[in-house]
Amino acid sequence: MTVSFTPPADPQAAIATYRNLNLVGSRHVPVSASLDVLNPATGAVLGQAAASTAAETDAAVQAAKAAGSAWAAIPARERGKAVAAGGRALLAHFEIVAQVLARETGKAIRTECRGEVKTSADILEFYGGLGSELKGETIPFNPRMLTMTTREPLGVVAAILPWNVPLVLMMLKIAPALVAGNTVVVKASEEAPFATYLAAEILMQHLPDGVLNVINGTGADCGAALTSHADVAKITFTGSEAVGETVYKSGAERIVPVSLELGGKSPMIVCDDASLEKSVAGAISGMRFTRQGQSCTASSRIYVHESLYDAFLAALRAELDSLKIGDPLDEETDIGTIINAKQAAVVAGYVAQAEATPGATVIRCGAVPEGTELSPDLFALPTLLLDLPEDHPCVQNEIFGPVAVIQKWSDYEDVIARANDSRYGLAATVWTENLSRALDATSRLNAGYVQVNQNLTIQPNVSYGGFGRSGLGKEASLEAMLAHFTRSKTIVIAMD
Ligand code: NAD
Repeated sequence: MTVSFTPPADPQAAIATYRNLNLVGSRHVPVSASLDVLNPATGAVLGQAAASTAAETDAAVQAAKAAGSAWAAIPARERGKAVAAGGRALLAHFEIVAQVLARETGKAIRTECRGEVKTSADILEFYGGLGSELKGETIPFNPRMLTMTTREPLGVVAAILPWNVPLVLMMLKIAPALVAGNTVVVKASEEAPFATYLAAEILMQHLPDGVLNVINGTGADCGAALTSHADVAKITFTGSEAVGETVYKSGAERIVPVSLELGGKSPMIVCDDASLEKSVAGAISGMRFTRQGQSCTASSRIYVHESLYDAFLAALRAELDSLKIGDPLDEETDIGTIINAKQAAVVAGYVAQAEATPGATVIRCGAVPEGTELSPDLFALPTLLLDLPEDHPCVQNEIFGPVAVIQKWSDYEDVIARANDSRYGLAATVWTENLSRALDATSRLNAGYVQVNQNLTIQPNVSYGGFGRSGLGKEASLEAMLAHFTRSKTIVIAMD
């Protein structure tokens, strides 16, 4: 455990603190090579982060392994109290962490980053209270045999993060893993590693050395070295479908459990009796327009009943036009930037494909900031794509930008079939005042997280995870901790 850590008050100083190093055994451990992290809003180099080699990745796994048995021997409630204390400390420092996050992700400080840090602290506090829930069962197998199950930690957990919501996703992995008695190596996203390091170092003050370790590097070097490491007992990954497949194969080679939270193309069905006001607000929050649509659960396929279609479209356009796109650090800004030029080009490519489709309409909303130091290319406009065939790439693929497909429907059976016509199955929403219809739709939609008349993000105590190519397993909730960060042992004791 390190003592009395106070984060620098200046975000740039905090970023410089983590120049070219890993957090291993609660120490700042320099690595041999670095990679540049850019500020997406300006295009300038924000800082240098570690580009860990396989040997440097191994050092983190060894530190986690060495800390394992002592951490697992601590009573579960005490482990939980340590994690919860880390949550309170993170909350106390939320502003500096949010400032770092806004600089590296391009997400707006007011609409996105502060909330993300607060939710991250909440996740630590939630799991911190669940230590005594690591219970087994007694089984009435035979009156002369005491038969029971116990829950044990798995060992070293590798937690691999994407860039879009790195703090919340980190906490959803490490909080249950730690409370369950595992030790952890976090692989930060090379696009946005610094807030991850800072939040983890704040939490580390409350944990024994080596229980939590954070490394950074490319997926090909650092990520692959971690997932294939012989001492990693569990992999929990959030990221793209393609990398998820590779990670799954790597786990399969060693027969270790793998949880995957991957992409999505989530439908939103607006019925003829839906509230226009609520459903338009739900489309804006559900599409995560203030996060530039960079969300796995984004309601990116919006099916609107023909009777509401024109009014819905007009209201949605008006709302989107009123959102301010600009400097992520400006308190007035609603929408920041896309993460990087490569992703911006992917988004633009999809919009160009829609534009080239006969019969389709493309509507761009809002305005890019002008006459500033900001890099204009990464400020993508909220965009609505109309009248596309269901098999169009923009309807079938995750765009991961502020681009929503709006489709008209008239027949309920048909819209359910269209909503389910996807290789993904992460989330879905239905908007109706008719209870029977709502219940029918929730039972038939092929998605792991279905909501009616609202579009909440991930909640700490509500289990969350996708079907199909959206992934494997659940995050958040007690269920996720028990199912994915413990193993069950059966014990049968003869009493004669
Ligand atoms: P990505 O798959 O490119 O990268 C994710 C992480 O995997 C990064 O840390 C990267 O370095 C690492 N990685 C890359 N190659 C690797 C390899 N061969 N072995 C091990 N690790 C490797 O994803 P991204 O671009 O950072 O994030 C966006 C994606 O994440 C989107 O597809 C989005 O839908 C998904 N996502 C899903 C959820 C969810 O809960 N389902 C949440 C957020 C984001």
